Amino acid sequence: MKVYKFGGASVRSAEGIRNILRIVSAVEDDLFIVVSAMGKTTNAMEIVLDHFMKVKDVDALAKLAEVASYHNEIIDALFANPENGRAVIAPVFDEIRKYIDEEPADDYDKCYDRLVSYGEIISTKIVSAYLSESGVANKWLDMRKLLVTDSNFREANVRMEESQERIEKAADFSESKIYIGQGFIGANINGNPTTLGREGSDYTAAVVGNLLNVESVSIWKDVPGILNADPRIFENTVHIPELSYLDAVELAYSGAQVIHPKTIKPLENKKIPLYVRPFNDPSAIGSVIRGRIQKPISVPILILRNNLVLVTMRPRDFSFVLEESLTKAFTVMNKHRLKVSLVQSSAISISVCVDDNRYLTGALDELSNEFRVSYNRDLELLTIRGTTDEIIEKSTKGREILLSQRTRKSARYLMRQK
Ligand code: ASP
Ligand code: MG
Repeated sequence: MKVYKFGGASVRSAEGIRNILRIVSAVEDDLFIVVSAMGKTTNAMEIVLDHFMKVKDVDALAKLAEVASYHNEIIDALFANPENGRAVIAPVFDEIRKYIDEEPADDYDKCYDRLVSYGEIISTKIVSAYLSESGVANKWLDMRKLLVTDSNFREANVRMEESQERIEKAADFSESKIYIGQGFIGANINGNPTTLGREGSDYTAAVVGNLLNVESVSIWKDVPGILNADPRIFENTVHIPELSYLDAVELAYSGAQVIHPKTIKPLENKKIPLYVRPFNDPSAIGSVIRGRIQKPISVPILILRNNLVLVTMRPRDFSFVLEESLTKAFTVMNKHRLKVSLVQSSAISISVCVDDNRYLTGALDELSNEFRVSYNRDLELLTIRGTTDEIIEKSTKGREILLSQRTRKSARYLMRQK
Protein backbone atom coordinates (compact mmCIF):
# COMPACT_ATOMS: atom_id res chain seq x y z
CA MET A 1 0.00 0.00 0.00
CA LYS A 2 1.27 3.45 -0.94
CA VAL A 3 0.31 7.09 -0.54
CA TYR A 4 0.65 9.49 -3.47
CA LYS A 5 0.20 13.20 -2.89
CA PHE A 6 -0.47 15.64 -5.72
CA GLY A 7 -0.08 19.33 -4.87
CA GLY A 8 -1.87 22.37 -6.24
CA ALA A 9 0.59 22.82 -9.11
CA SER A 10 0.02 19.23 -10.31
CA VAL A 11 -3.73 19.77 -10.58
CA ARG A 12 -3.83 23.34 -11.83
CA SER A 13 -4.82 22.35 -15.37
CA ALA A 14 -6.53 19.62 -17.37
CA GLU A 15 -3.08 18.51 -18.57
CA GLY A 16 -1.94 18.02 -14.97
CA ILE A 17 -4.93 15.87 -14.11
CA ARG A 18 -4.37 13.76 -17.23
CA ASN A 19 -0.86 13.21 -15.96
CA ILE A 20 -2.26 11.96 -12.64
CA LEU A 21 -4.29 9.42 -14.60
CA ARG A 22 -1.11 8.25 -16.34
CA ILE A 23 0.84 8.00 -13.09
CA VAL A 24 -1.92 6.27 -11.17
CA SER A 25 -2.76 3.81 -13.97
CA ALA A 26 0.78 2.48 -13.81
CA VAL A 27 0.51 1.54 -10.13
CA GLU A 28 -0.35 -2.02 -9.17
CA ASP A 29 -0.35 -1.58 -5.39
CA ASP A 30 -3.27 -0.35 -3.33
CA LEU A 31 -3.12 3.41 -3.44
CA PHE A 32 -4.30 6.26 -1.25
CA ILE A 33 -4.23 9.53 -3.19
CA VAL A 34 -4.08 12.87 -1.40
CA VAL A 35 -4.91 15.92 -3.50
CA SER A 36 -4.58 19.68 -2.85
CA ALA A 37 -6.84 22.43 -4.11
CA MET A 38 -6.28 23.26 -7.77
CA GLY A 39 -3.67 25.91 -8.58
CA LYS A 40 -4.27 29.06 -6.58
CA THR A 41 -7.74 28.08 -5.37
CA THR A 42 -6.84 28.35 -1.68
CA ASN A 43 -5.77 31.97 -2.19
CA ALA A 44 -8.98 32.67 -4.09
CA MET A 45 -11.08 31.10 -1.33
CA GLU A 46 -9.28 33.31 1.19
CA ILE A 47 -10.56 36.31 -0.75
CA VAL A 48 -14.09 34.88 -0.82
CA LEU A 49 -13.83 34.49 2.94
CA ASP A 50 -12.59 38.03 3.42
CA HIS A 51 -15.64 39.45 1.64
CA PHE A 52 -17.92 37.09 3.52
CA MET A 53 -16.51 38.18 6.89
CA LYS A 54 -17.01 41.82 5.95
CA VAL A 55 -20.60 40.85 5.11
CA LYS A 56 -20.03 41.85 1.50
CA ASP A 57 -21.96 38.92 0.10
CA VAL A 58 -22.14 40.30 -3.42
CA ASP A 59 -18.35 40.47 -3.65
CA ALA A 60 -17.99 37.07 -2.03
CA LEU A 61 -20.36 35.53 -4.58
CA ALA A 62 -18.63 37.26 -7.48
CA LYS A 63 -15.25 35.90 -6.40
CA LEU A 64 -16.80 32.47 -5.87
CA ALA A 65 -18.19 32.60 -9.41
CA GLU A 66 -14.62 33.09 -10.65
CA VAL A 67 -13.54 30.03 -8.69
CA ALA A 68 -16.43 28.07 -10.21
CA SER A 69 -15.61 29.07 -13.77
CA TYR A 70 -11.93 28.23 -13.32
CA HIS A 71 -12.94 24.70 -12.29
CA ASN A 72 -15.56 24.40 -15.01
CA GLU A 73 -13.01 25.37 -17.66
CA ILE A 74 -10.72 22.61 -16.46
CA ILE A 75 -13.63 20.16 -16.50
CA ASP A 76 -14.59 21.13 -20.04
CA ALA A 77 -11.04 20.58 -21.25
CA LEU A 78 -10.66 17.33 -19.35
CA PHE A 79 -13.73 15.15 -19.48
CA ALA A 80 -15.02 13.22 -22.45
CA ASN A 81 -18.42 14.20 -21.16
CA PRO A 82 -18.03 17.41 -19.11
CA GLU A 83 -21.40 16.78 -17.48
CA ASN A 84 -19.70 14.01 -15.47
CA GLY A 85 -17.51 16.64 -13.87
CA ARG A 86 -19.92 19.55 -13.63
CA ALA A 87 -22.48 17.36 -11.90
CA VAL A 88 -20.16 16.47 -9.02
CA ILE A 89 -19.09 20.01 -8.20
CA ALA A 90 -22.41 21.82 -8.69
CA PRO A 91 -23.83 20.64 -5.33
CA VAL A 92 -20.63 21.74 -3.58
CA PHE A 93 -20.93 25.25 -4.98
CA ASP A 94 -24.62 25.30 -3.98
CA GLU A 95 -23.57 24.43 -0.44
CA ILE A 96 -20.96 27.21 -0.38
CA ARG A 97 -23.47 29.77 -1.71
CA LYS A 98 -25.91 28.76 0.98
CA TYR A 99 -23.25 29.26 3.61
CA ILE A 100 -22.36 32.69 2.23
CA ASP A 101 -26.01 33.59 2.46
CA GLU A 102 -25.84 33.22 6.24
CA GLU A 103 -24.25 35.74 8.59
CA PRO A 104 -20.73 34.78 9.69
CA ALA A 105 -21.57 33.27 13.07
CA ASP A 106 -18.14 32.18 14.25
CA ASP A 107 -14.71 33.69 14.64
CA TYR A 108 -12.52 34.37 11.63
CA ASP A 109 -10.33 31.29 11.87
CA LYS A 110 -13.27 28.94 12.33
CA CYS A 111 -15.09 30.41 9.31
CA TYR A 112 -11.82 30.24 7.37
CA ASP A 113 -11.63 26.51 7.85
CA ARG A 114 -15.27 25.96 7.03
CA LEU A 115 -15.06 27.90 3.77
CA VAL A 116 -11.49 27.52 2.51
CA SER A 117 -11.59 23.72 2.97
CA TYR A 118 -14.02 23.51 0.05
CA GLY A 119 -11.08 24.04 -2.33
CA GLU A 120 -9.88 20.50 -1.67
CA ILE A 121 -13.42 19.07 -1.69
CA ILE A 122 -13.87 20.43 -5.21
CA SER A 123 -10.49 19.29 -6.55
CA THR A 124 -10.87 15.74 -5.23
CA LYS A 125 -14.41 15.45 -6.61
CA ILE A 126 -13.08 16.36 -10.04
CA VAL A 127 -10.06 14.03 -9.92
CA SER A 128 -12.19 11.15 -8.65
CA ALA A 129 -14.89 11.63 -11.31
CA TYR A 130 -12.27 11.93 -14.05
CA LEU A 131 -10.49 8.72 -13.03
CA SER A 132 -13.89 6.97 -12.96
CA GLU A 133 -14.81 8.29 -16.39
CA SER A 134 -11.45 7.02 -17.64
CA GLY A 135 -12.10 3.53 -16.29
CA VAL A 136 -9.97 3.77 -13.15
CA ALA A 137 -12.26 2.70 -10.32
CA ASN A 138 -11.75 4.66 -7.12
CA LYS A 139 -13.53 5.74 -3.99
CA TRP A 140 -13.80 9.37 -2.85
CA LEU A 141 -13.42 10.03 0.87
CA ASP A 142 -14.34 13.07 2.94
CA MET A 143 -11.36 13.75 5.19
CA ARG A 144 -13.50 16.04 7.34
CA LYS A 145 -15.10 12.84 8.56
CA LEU A 146 -11.90 10.84 8.90
CA LEU A 147 -9.12 13.01 10.24
CA VAL A 148 -9.95 14.16 13.76
CA THR A 149 -7.96 17.23 14.74
CA ASP A 150 -7.71 19.58 17.68
CA SER A 151 -9.61 22.88 17.47
CA ASN A 152 -6.59 24.97 16.60
CA PHE A 153 -8.34 26.41 13.55
CA ARG A 154 -6.04 27.18 10.59
CA GLU A 155 -3.13 25.29 12.21
CA ALA A 156 -4.86 22.16 13.38
CA ASN A 157 -2.98 19.06 14.48
CA VAL A 158 -4.28 15.60 13.73
CA ARG A 159 -5.19 13.43 16.69
CA MET A 160 -3.71 10.15 15.63
CA GLU A 161 -5.54 7.77 17.97
CA GLU A 162 -8.97 9.20 17.21
CA SER A 163 -8.33 9.17 13.46
CA GLN A 164 -6.85 5.69 13.27
CA GLU A 165 -10.02 3.65 13.46
CA ARG A 166 -12.00 5.94 11.19
CA ILE A 167 -9.47 5.88 8.40
CA GLU A 168 -8.74 2.17 8.66
CA LYS A 169 -12.43 1.47 8.34
CA ALA A 170 -13.03 3.89 5.47
CA ALA A 171 -9.97 2.84 3.48
CA ASP A 172 -9.80 -0.90 4.05
CA PHE A 173 -9.18 -1.55 0.34
CA SER A 174 -11.94 -4.14 0.16
CA GLU A 175 -14.21 -2.14 -2.15
CA SER A 176 -11.52 -0.38 -4.09
CA LYS A 177 -7.81 -0.39 -4.89
CA ILE A 178 -7.72 3.39 -5.01
CA TYR A 179 -8.99 5.90 -2.47
CA ILE A 180 -8.94 9.65 -2.97
CA GLY A 181 -8.94 12.09 -0.06
CA GLN A 182 -8.28 15.78 0.45
CA GLY A 183 -5.01 17.13 1.74
CA PHE A 184 -4.98 20.03 4.20
CA ILE A 185 -8.37 19.42 5.83
CA GLY A 186 -9.99 17.55 8.72
CA ALA A 187 -12.48 18.38 11.46
CA ASN A 188 -12.46 18.69 15.22
CA ILE A 189 -14.31 16.21 17.39
CA ASN A 190 -17.54 18.21 16.99
CA GLY A 191 -17.32 17.95 13.21
CA ASN A 192 -16.30 21.56 12.59
CA PRO A 193 -13.98 21.61 9.58
CA THR A 194 -10.35 22.49 10.31
CA THR A 195 -7.30 23.14 8.14
CA LEU A 196 -3.77 22.05 8.91
CA GLY A 197 -1.85 25.20 7.93
CA ARG A 198 -0.99 26.51 4.45
CA GLU A 199 0.74 23.92 2.29
CA GLY A 200 -0.50 21.33 4.78
CA SER A 201 -1.33 18.59 2.28
CA ASP A 202 2.13 17.07 2.70
CA TYR A 203 1.32 16.67 6.36
CA THR A 204 -1.95 14.90 5.47
CA ALA A 205 -0.07 12.49 3.23
CA ALA A 206 2.37 11.70 6.05
CA VAL A 207 -0.44 11.23 8.58
CA VAL A 208 -2.39 8.91 6.29
CA GLY A 209 0.83 7.00 5.57
CA ASN A 210 1.41 6.56 9.28
CA LEU A 211 -2.17 5.57 10.11
CA LEU A 212 -2.41 3.04 7.30
CA ASN A 213 1.13 1.79 7.85
CA VAL A 214 2.03 2.13 4.19
CA GLU A 215 5.21 1.05 2.49
CA SER A 216 6.03 4.55 1.19
CA VAL A 217 4.69 8.05 0.67
CA SER A 218 5.40 9.94 -2.55
CA ILE A 219 4.95 13.66 -2.99
CA TRP A 220 4.69 14.55 -6.69
CA LYS A 221 6.02 18.02 -7.32
CA ASP A 222 6.99 20.38 -10.09
CA VAL A 223 10.67 20.09 -9.14
CA PRO A 224 13.18 17.34 -9.99
CA GLY A 225 13.41 16.32 -6.31
CA ILE A 226 15.23 17.95 -3.44
CA LEU A 227 17.97 20.36 -4.45
CA ASN A 228 20.70 21.85 -2.29
CA ALA A 229 19.14 25.30 -2.75
CA ASP A 230 16.14 26.97 -4.32
CA PRO A 231 16.98 27.36 -8.03
CA ARG A 232 14.89 30.55 -8.18
CA ILE A 233 17.34 32.19 -5.78
CA PHE A 234 20.69 30.43 -6.10
CA GLU A 235 22.80 29.46 -9.10
CA ASN A 236 24.35 26.07 -9.82
CA THR A 237 22.00 24.01 -7.69
CA VAL A 238 22.66 20.32 -7.20
CA HIS A 239 20.20 17.46 -6.87
CA ILE A 240 20.29 15.55 -3.55
CA PRO A 241 19.11 11.98 -4.12
CA GLU A 242 18.97 10.92 -0.49
CA LEU A 243 18.38 12.66 2.83
CA SER A 244 17.93 11.53 6.43
CA TYR A 245 14.79 12.43 8.40
CA LEU A 246 16.94 14.63 10.58
CA ASP A 247 18.37 16.57 7.63
CA ALA A 248 14.89 16.92 6.21
CA VAL A 249 13.51 18.36 9.45
CA GLU A 250 16.37 20.85 9.61
CA LEU A 251 15.76 21.83 6.01
CA ALA A 252 12.04 22.30 6.41
CA TYR A 253 12.49 24.20 9.66
CA SER A 254 15.03 26.55 8.09
CA GLY A 255 12.51 27.44 5.42
CA ALA A 256 13.16 25.07 2.52
CA GLN A 257 9.78 25.02 0.82
CA VAL A 258 10.06 21.62 -0.71
CA ILE A 259 8.31 19.92 2.21
CA HIS A 260 6.07 21.11 5.00
CA PRO A 261 7.83 21.00 8.40
CA LYS A 262 5.13 18.86 10.03
CA THR A 263 5.54 16.11 7.42
CA ILE A 264 8.54 14.28 8.78
CA LYS A 265 7.44 13.21 12.27
CA PRO A 266 4.58 10.86 11.31
CA LEU A 267 6.86 9.19 8.78
CA GLU A 268 9.94 8.95 10.98
CA ASN A 269 7.85 7.42 13.76
CA LYS A 270 7.06 4.46 11.51
CA LYS A 271 10.23 4.59 9.42
CA ILE A 272 8.24 5.13 6.23
CA PRO A 273 10.34 6.52 3.36
CA LEU A 274 9.21 9.75 1.73
CA TYR A 275 9.84 10.15 -1.98
CA VAL A 276 9.83 13.58 -3.62
CA ARG A 277 9.21 12.89 -7.28
CA PRO A 278 9.03 15.04 -10.40
CA PHE A 279 5.48 15.16 -11.64
CA ASN A 280 6.56 15.77 -15.23
CA ASP A 281 9.02 12.92 -15.33
CA PRO A 282 7.56 9.96 -13.41
CA SER A 283 10.42 7.63 -14.30
CA ALA A 284 13.08 9.93 -12.78
CA ILE A 285 14.45 8.95 -9.38
CA GLY A 286 13.65 12.18 -7.53
CA SER A 287 14.79 12.20 -3.90
CA VAL A 288 14.14 9.99 -0.93
CA ILE A 289 14.03 10.88 2.76
CA ARG A 290 14.54 7.99 5.15
CA GLY A 291 16.25 6.86 8.33
CA ARG A 292 19.40 5.31 7.00
CA ILE A 293 21.13 6.89 4.07
CA GLN A 294 23.85 5.34 1.93
CA LYS A 295 26.16 8.31 1.83
CA PRO A 296 26.19 11.66 3.60
CA ILE A 297 25.36 14.80 1.67
CA SER A 298 28.54 16.14 0.15
CA VAL A 299 27.35 19.55 -1.01
CA PRO A 300 26.51 22.53 1.16
CA ILE A 301 22.80 23.27 1.53
CA LEU A 302 21.58 26.86 1.37
CA ILE A 303 18.17 27.94 2.60
CA LEU A 304 16.81 31.42 2.53
CA ARG A 305 13.76 32.36 4.53
CA ASN A 306 12.36 35.86 4.20
CA ASN A 307 9.74 38.14 5.64
CA LEU A 308 11.12 37.77 9.15
CA VAL A 309 11.23 40.03 12.19
CA LEU A 310 13.89 40.17 14.86
CA VAL A 311 12.24 40.81 18.21
CA THR A 312 14.46 41.79 21.14
CA MET A 313 13.07 41.69 24.67
CA ARG A 314 14.47 42.95 27.93
CA PRO A 315 12.63 42.21 31.20
CA ARG A 316 10.91 45.35 32.54
CA ASP A 317 11.57 44.40 36.15
CA PHE A 318 15.27 44.01 35.34
CA SER A 319 15.15 40.38 36.48
CA PHE A 320 18.10 38.47 35.16
CA VAL A 321 16.68 35.01 35.55
CA LEU A 322 16.95 33.80 32.00
CA GLU A 323 14.86 30.67 32.47
CA GLU A 324 11.93 32.70 33.77
CA SER A 325 12.15 35.28 31.02
CA LEU A 326 12.40 32.61 28.34
CA THR A 327 9.42 30.77 29.76
CA LYS A 328 7.31 33.94 29.81
CA ALA A 329 8.35 34.98 26.30
CA PHE A 330 7.77 31.57 24.76
CA THR A 331 4.41 31.12 26.46
CA VAL A 332 3.18 34.35 24.87
CA MET A 333 4.67 33.55 21.46
CA ASN A 334 3.21 30.08 21.47
CA LYS A 335 -0.20 31.43 22.42
CA HIS A 336 -0.05 33.84 19.48
CA ARG A 337 1.22 31.11 17.13
CA LEU A 338 4.44 32.88 16.29
CA LYS A 339 6.86 30.58 14.52
CA VAL A 340 10.30 31.06 16.00
CA SER A 341 13.18 30.31 13.67
CA LEU A 342 16.12 31.50 15.74
CA VAL A 343 16.83 32.29 19.40
CA GLN A 344 19.69 34.18 20.99
CA SER A 345 20.00 35.23 24.61
CA SER A 346 22.32 37.27 26.77
CA ALA A 347 22.29 38.19 30.46
CA ILE A 348 19.72 40.89 29.96
CA SER A 349 17.98 40.22 26.69
CA ILE A 350 16.35 37.62 24.52
CA SER A 351 16.21 37.93 20.75
CA VAL A 352 14.01 35.79 18.57
CA CYS A 353 13.44 35.72 14.89
CA VAL A 354 9.81 35.14 13.91
CA ASP A 355 7.59 35.24 10.82
CA ASP A 356 6.02 38.59 10.03
CA ASN A 357 2.37 37.57 10.01
CA ARG A 358 -0.99 38.78 11.23
CA TYR A 359 -0.41 37.38 14.72
CA LEU A 360 2.65 39.56 15.30
CA THR A 361 1.00 42.75 16.61
CA GLY A 362 -1.06 40.89 19.20
CA ALA A 363 2.01 39.04 20.40
CA LEU A 364 4.15 42.21 20.59
CA ASP A 365 1.43 43.94 22.60
CA GLU A 366 1.28 41.16 25.13
CA LEU A 367 5.06 40.81 25.32
CA SER A 368 5.27 44.53 26.10
CA ASN A 369 3.56 43.88 29.45
CA GLU A 370 6.61 42.00 30.65
CA PHE A 371 9.39 43.21 28.42
CA ARG A 372 10.79 46.30 26.84
CA VAL A 373 10.37 45.20 23.23
CA SER A 374 12.12 46.43 20.12
CA TYR A 375 12.01 44.91 16.67
CA ASN A 376 13.36 45.02 13.12
CA ARG A 377 11.27 44.01 10.13
CA ASP A 378 12.00 42.97 6.52
CA LEU A 379 14.75 40.54 7.35
CA GLU A 380 15.89 37.30 5.78
CA LEU A 381 17.60 34.34 7.35
CA LEU A 382 20.23 32.46 5.41
CA THR A 383 21.04 29.00 6.73
CA ILE A 384 24.04 27.19 5.30
CA ARG A 385 24.59 23.57 6.25
CA GLY A 386 27.86 21.83 5.56
CA THR A 387 29.43 25.21 5.26
CA THR A 388 32.81 26.57 4.24
CA ASP A 389 34.32 30.02 4.78
CA GLU A 390 34.30 30.58 1.06
CA ILE A 391 30.57 30.04 0.72
CA ILE A 392 29.85 32.24 3.71
CA GLU A 393 32.02 35.00 2.31
CA LYS A 394 30.27 34.78 -1.04
CA SER A 395 26.75 34.66 0.36
CA THR A 396 27.05 37.46 2.87
CA LYS A 397 29.38 39.85 1.06
CA GLY A 398 28.32 43.46 1.37
CA ARG A 399 25.24 42.57 3.41
CA GLU A 400 24.18 44.06 6.70
CA ILE A 401 24.14 41.22 9.22
CA LEU A 402 21.99 41.76 12.31
CA LEU A 403 22.75 38.47 13.97
CA SER A 404 24.76 35.36 13.23
CA GLN A 405 25.14 31.90 14.70
CA ARG A 406 27.68 29.30 13.77
CA THR A 407 28.12 25.69 14.80
CA ARG A 408 30.36 22.98 13.38
CA LYS A 409 27.66 21.91 10.95
CA SER A 410 25.92 25.09 10.02
CA ALA A 411 25.95 28.86 9.89
CA ARG A 412 22.99 31.21 10.05
CA TYR A 413 22.88 34.86 9.10
CA LEU A 414 20.02 37.21 9.73
CA MET A 415 20.27 40.01 7.19
CA ARG A 416 18.24 42.90 5.91
CA GLN A 417 16.23 41.86 2.86
CA LYS A 418 17.69 43.09 -0.42
N1 ASP B 1 -4.33 24.05 -0.69
C1 ASP B 1 -3.58 24.34 0.50
C2 ASP B 1 -2.66 25.51 0.24
O1 ASP B 1 -2.60 26.01 -0.87
C3 ASP B 1 -2.83 23.17 1.01
C4 ASP B 1 -1.76 22.62 0.12
O2 ASP B 1 -1.74 22.92 -1.06
O3 ASP B 1 -0.91 21.86 0.61
O4 ASP B 1 -2.02 25.97 1.16
MG1 MG C 1 -0.98 24.52 -2.63
